[in-house]
Amino acid sequence: MKVLRDGADLRRTVATACRILEREGLVEGILGHVSARVSEDEIVIRCRGGARERGLRFSEASDVWRLTLDGEPVDVPEGYDPPKELPIHAETLRRRSEFGAVIHAHPRAALLAGLAGVRPRPVFGSYNLPAMRLALEGVPVFDRSVLITQAELAAEMLAAMGDSDVVLLRGHGITVGASTVEQATVLALNLNVLLDVSVKLRLLGAEPADLPIEDLADLPDLGSAFNDQLVWQALVAALEEERGGMT
Ligand SMILES: [Zn+2]
Repeated sequence: MKVLRDGADLRRTVATACRILEREGLVEGILGHVSARVSEDEIVIRCRGGARERGLRFSEASDVWRLTLDGEPVDVPEGYDPPKELPIHAETLRRRSEFGAVIHAHPRAALLAGLAGVRPRPVFGSYNLPAMRLALEGVPVFDRSVLITQAELAAEMLAAMGDSDVVLLRGHGITVGASTVEQATVLALNLNVLLDVSVKLRLLGAEPADLPIEDLADLPDLGSAFNDQLVWQALVAALEEERGGMT
């Protein structure tokens, strides 16, 4: 079996993504997880550290362990457990071969948007073009708020997700997938911006019109991989400064 990517660098990247998501307010405490594909049927995922657990804010490469897509531990040491919602990651990576990483989080804006039935529309442009494009494509909704602890439930979520890279889980949170951990992280942040703005517009009682077709036609496609890498670098730099270079 061919291993695509593994080792300390990928585990460190998964841990860094957890810390960024916490710093940006998409996850808090111990809730939320990041995974990455390492081979055809294995992943690494942020596990729970039992007595050592201090929350996602303090994630380290040593919190990230390897499992099969069937949930069998490969190198998970005593005292660490995969998250209960592992099937979100395993089934998404099993069924969406284009994804190399999956993030599941419980951002407050996603909760409010889902519960209030706020559907994001493409009302802003250059403020955040990737977020606007998410609105343009539409954010699918999975209507059940259950804990996704079984493959069958994850399959239902994926059916709701369709071909999208994102899905809003009503009364629960979000799941996003992308080629890399870095891209998935930036995608989750952009989705959060979109949902946060959409909820706040509703609170303001504002109903701005969708962008006109001619404005949409003029907006550049920033080329997400390149742009995402720059955004990721900036996020890591901010994290490093805050933590005194201890990443
Ligand atoms: Zn969850």
